[in-house]
Amino acid sequence: MVLQLFKKSQMWRKPDLKNRYEVVIIGGGVHGLSTAYHLGKLGLTDVAVIDKSYLGGGGSARSTAIIRANYLTPEGIPFFRESHKMYENLSQELDFNLLFNQMGRLDLGHTDSAVYWLNVRAGFNQLLGVNSRVIDPNEISELVPVLDLRKGKTMPVLAALYHPPAGVVRHDAVVYGYARAADRMGIELHPFTEVTGIIKSNGRVTGVQTNSGQISAGTVVSATAGWSSTISTMVDLDLPITTYPLQAFVTEPLKPFLDKTISSANLHAYAYQTDRGEVVIGGPVDPYPTYSQRATMNMLEDLSVFILKLLPILKPAKILRQWAGLCDMTPDYAPILGKVEGLDGFILNCGWGTWGFKAAPIAGKTVAELVATGQTPKLIQPFGLDRFENGRLINERAAATAAAIH
Ligand SMILES: Cc1cc2nc3c(=O)[nH]c(=O)nc-3n(C[C@H](O)[C@H](O)[C@H](O)COP(=O)(O)OP(=O)(O)OC[C@H]3O[C@@H](n4cnc5c(N)ncnc54)[C@H](O)[C@@H]3O)c2cc1C
Repeated sequence: MVLQLFKKSQMWRKPDLKNRYEVVIIGGGVHGLSTAYHLGKLGLTDVAVIDKSYLGGGGSARSTAIIRANYLTPEGIPFFRESHKMYENLSQELDFNLLFNQMGRLDLGHTDSAVYWLNVRAGFNQLLGVNSRVIDPNEISELVPVLDLRKGKTMPVLAALYHPPAGVVRHDAVVYGYARAADRMGIELHPFTEVTGIIKSNGRVTGVQTNSGQISAGTVVSATAGWSSTISTMVDLDLPITTYPLQAFVTEPLKPFLDKTISSANLHAYAYQTDRGEVVIGGPVDPYPTYSQRATMNMLEDLSVFILKLLPILKPAKILRQWAGLCDMTPDYAPILGKVEGLDGFILNCGWGTWGFKAAPIAGKTVAELVATGQTPKLIQPFGLDRFENGRLINERAAATAAAIH
């Protein structure tokens, strides 16, 4: 009886690792799990998700999980728009409450040049079916009365790009929702199993070496974000990815005073208040590449200074905790998705940098379609690795991050 109750309360099964699967996904973060779930929906269930740590313990565990679609480029906007739509129905689809709160978002502009680009973004957004528009300080003060809108101060708020459907989701719930749904379909989840090598034969990936033995596979997907380069090195592939830490922190719980996410690229900071009352504050990646996930006092001080210029009301607030996660930054701030020329059986789902959580539903769906059919869906064709050879970079820098100082 006790054993039955225990089994019922388990989040997912714990099967023995087999020595062959049709598909092996390296990385049990939001992207690996979404890809697995969508493979299951396509009828491919001989799939193993392998993670060296606990599921969702990488960047996905550390995400501030802002979900939005107000990007800049004709490649990025439709991609993130589709992902955003999928998030709107994801709780029902996964039968797991993801607490997606569509509170709306303001990207603030403090200089003429910043406002010019906010207008460009609004124009492209509207043309491509994303609800966003530029608003003036009067409307900003109605939406966020606590914002410091004094005229004449350094970096005054001149305008904002308002994106009403943007929101925040519970990052751990998304990971668990995908994991449980994939598990129900018969897909195997293997946390605490590290990939130590990739097996290649005649220009084709045929499996992986793990600390629990060798596994052969028809297709291997790398969904390893901050560790993508370490995995690609195993197949002698040099990815245009550099790993940087990204930090964030939260204040003690405060009475509700902020019901929008706000972000300022000029001031290198963003913030929102959670349902618990804590204010989540983040900014740019650390100024140096490293695989260390330690939070630093320098960044805490910088982010505090930046955010107080927008929200001076936070001055007496106490800081509760601070953390860091790894981000796989690409030169054009867009992901790398798809096949690798000259290396069959190896698919990339990486380059998610500081912006990847919002993309997991559509990336998982399209990468799963690619694995199942061998054809790259149109929506992700611009994000192939070959763009760095043919010069067709995407340049989402202005819209992908809250801030970039390096
Ligand atoms: C502080 C912070 C705030 C963020 N805020 C946002 C935001 O507001 N909105 C947004 O859209 N994005 C945000 N992001 C980015 C987003 O969280 C990531 O892009 C996303 O979670 C990446 O998911 P993933 O599944 O690709 O990678 P991860 O979640 O990092 O998963 C990769 C997994 O690969 C595993 N792995 C690595 N090497 C091996 C190996 N050799 N063998 C087996 N497994 C291995 C790791 O253990 C890890 O679990 C933020 C990130 C951080 C750090």
